[in-house]
Amino acid sequence: MGPDGRPDAAAAGADDLAWVALGGNVGDSHAVMRGALAALAELGEVVARSSLYRTAPVGGPAGQADYLNAVVALRTGLSTHGLLRALQDVEERFGRVRGERWGPRTLDLDLLAHGAVNVDDPVATVPHPRLHHRAFVLVPLREIDPWWRHPVTGETAEGMLARLDASGVERTELAW
Ligand code: ATP
Ligand code: CA
Ligand code: CA
Repeated sequence: MGPDGRPDAAAAGADDLAWVALGGNVGDSHAVMRGALAALAELGEVVARSSLYRTAPVGGPAGQADYLNAVVALRTGLSTHGLLRALQDVEERFGRVRGERWGPRTLDLDLLAHGAVNVDDPVATVPHPRLHHRAFVLVPLREIDPWWRHPVTGETAEGMLARLDASGVERTELAW
């Protein structure tokens, strides 16, 4: 509850899942994904993880390498802002250097959604404002929860995907 008695839009309940998108295309991305999963498991309980997907880069500079992408569902006691900070710490541990927008990176961890949280402030925008445009996020999300709904629009992953070209998103048999 907020100070004025209204429900606090920035709060996530204890049972609310955090949905985290993983991506990387620099170095040994398979090893990075596995290391990132271990790091996420230190922030809470990993309750679901998608396959690893090989995806064609979208936007950003021309000529960058394919990405590995995945989505993980995490049950965590961290606040939304606390979790975002923790995700940035993990990115830094894997040597992420913030360069060109949408440029190559060792590890990118985006908080797609956190329960019903709806927050937009200078450091956190949750749900992630571009998730509904991205097949490389929605295909793995649909794999782990076909009934997943966007907390604000109520749209399913399937419904959002229907408008997108998912041909650049290829499921791999790579092991976690
Ligand atoms: P995109 O956000 O389009 O996927 P990006 O991942 O390349 O692009 P970054 O450089 O990783 O963008 O992040 C830009 C800023 O977004 C970071 O400073 C981060 O703190 C902030 N941010 C705000 N909301 C979120 C969120 N839901 N998940 C991840 N980062 C977020
Ligand atoms: Ca991103
Ligand atoms: Ca990011």
